[in-house]
Amino acid sequence: MFGTVKMKTKPRRGHLAFVIQKHKATSLHYDLRLEIGGVMPSWSVPKGPSLDSSVKRLAMPTSDHQMDYRRFEGVLKGEYGAGPVMIWDEGTYNPEVEVSKGVRKEIVEKQEAEEVARKSLADGNLKFFLYGKKLLGSFALVRTKGFGGKESWLLIKHRDDYSQPRYDANDYDFSAVSDKTLAQIAGQDDLHRAADA
Ligand code: MN
Repeated sequence: MFGTVKMKTKPRRGHLAFVIQKHKATSLHYDLRLEIGGVMPSWSVPKGPSLDSSVKRLAMPTSDHQMDYRRFEGVLKGEYGAGPVMIWDEGTYNPEVEVSKGVRKEIVEKQEAEEVARKSLADGNLKFFLYGKKLLGSFALVRTKGFGGKESWLLIKHRDDYSQPRYDANDYDFSAVSDKTLAQIAGQDDLHRAADA
């Protein structure tokens, strides 16, 4: 009989998009973007996200990006940020609220989710569950005092079933949409230039 078996129910995937773009501009970093209200507030994470719940990753806020930008993979031109961009991970997320110490609940309904996400960011502490192709599990973005007057945040993996000790994003150098490495994405540009020359 099934009566005594407790099935672990998995929450539904969210309606809000997220993307993490690996980007080599002046220096290598990972741009985390979360959909809220039709735009994507963004953070630059120099060391990349980690599934290791014992590490805190510096995350510097950058400008909000348009939703369409999450589809961009290629070589960025121009003076600012020029260099290859990889869609390192993509998917959806649900913001979470803490219902009791260490116990979180995902907010699935879209309008409520956006309200919770917006308020959490304003409060400087956003908890969220990522459903990506590489990343799965619960994270927090926490605002800190910052360095030299600059606002900064920390990206932290909550300890859960998906935590992985010593996880290093740089060990996974392939695109979530094309499987290409960052060097291969950068190399496409060189081919175009060679053809143009
Ligand atoms: Mn960037």
